[in-house]
Amino acid sequence: MPKAIGFAAQAADQALEYFEFERRDPTADDVEIEIEYCGVCHSDLHQARNEWGGTVFPCVPGHEIVGKVTRVGSKVSKYKVGDTVGVGCMVDSCRTCANCEDGYEQYCDNGFVGTYNGEDKHMGGVTFGGYSNRITVAQDFVLKVSDKLDLAGVAPLLCAGITTYSPLRHWGVTKGHKVGVVGLGGLGHMAVKIAKAMGAEVVLFTTSPNKVDDAKRLGADHVVISKDEEQMKAWRNSLDFILNTVAAPHDLDAYLTLLRLDGTMTLVGVPAESHPSPAVFNLIAKRRSLAGSLIGGIAETQEMLDFCAEHGITSDIEMIAMDEINEAYERMLKSDVKYRFVIDMATLKQK
Ligand code: NAP
Ligand code: ZN
Ligand code: ZN
Repeated sequence: MPKAIGFAAQAADQALEYFEFERRDPTADDVEIEIEYCGVCHSDLHQARNEWGGTVFPCVPGHEIVGKVTRVGSKVSKYKVGDTVGVGCMVDSCRTCANCEDGYEQYCDNGFVGTYNGEDKHMGGVTFGGYSNRITVAQDFVLKVSDKLDLAGVAPLLCAGITTYSPLRHWGVTKGHKVGVVGLGGLGHMAVKIAKAMGAEVVLFTTSPNKVDDAKRLGADHVVISKDEEQMKAWRNSLDFILNTVAAPHDLDAYLTLLRLDGTMTLVGVPAESHPSPAVFNLIAKRRSLAGSLIGGIAETQEMLDFCAEHGITSDIEMIAMDEINEAYERMLKSDVKYRFVIDMATLKQK
């Protein structure tokens, strides 16, 4: 079995450190990938610090993976050695429940297999993610990546891209819509770019006054400092859809009241502690909806990658070395990400 190296958290209160483990040899249906870049999602931090409960240690995070195919199993028809590919948040699912059959593997009724901290059906124990030099994944959970785009900037599309694309598509965002995006971090900056490419008028809500110029450069038509009540008031009853990416508990009413009749706010942020309950009156007063959304299915992820390739969309990244990951987590907690950290896996060396 091939040896793998990576970075793992050994406990919730410990920094990530160098870690050696094993990956499986490709089965008939598997693709083996040499990882070149891996994005750093806020979910990695939540999981490594056991903020959602249920983390099994050691934990190797990372679910925004791009790299090159190094070996394929005998039945692999979709990929060949040398292809540029991606892996997102899932490496398998039951493939037989109604949701899987409809292409909604992320909503698998039997639970999808996460790229990390999922039940490893081949090796036992839990799956290890992309903060590592190689990974073996079933071909149906591997994505084709255009080599026209900057590969490091593509990595974050595998989670931040699909998590924002999927709800924007599902709620039918298009030209003529006014769309709010809350939070300009990894997910938020992708939401701005994608909603803009779908033709919407984009209003970005941020707690960070120093991000205003960047938000406009990234495609926001308007930028609102969410702590400023006067600025917030100006947008009451006006937005068709809001995508809320904030990773911390906050007052949802401040945003629900900005929705027009029949508007929806979809939550994608998963704070360790939930938000205070919103006021029912704000929902019924304008038949508003409050919803949630989880990543996206495999076919939709491919559609998103193709959409981004067509529109020249990649993530704005700050490249880091593998051993800078703990510092990156601290900066992420201060909302100081411009706008996604990506690990250059060439900096991960055998000890
Ligand atoms: P991130 O890069 O850290 O961005 C989060 C942004 O939220 C920050 O940049 C900040 O933007 C804003 N923010 C942070 N703390 C805040 C606070 N106390 N009050 C108001 N705004 C605050 O995180 P991310 O990687 O985009 O992930 C965001 C959340 O989505 C995480 O909880 C993650 O686990 C979750 N997630 C969910 C899915 C899914 O499928 N649903 C997929 C991936 C990630 P400003 O500085 O602009 O205010
Ligand atoms: Zn993620
Ligand atoms: Zn299923």
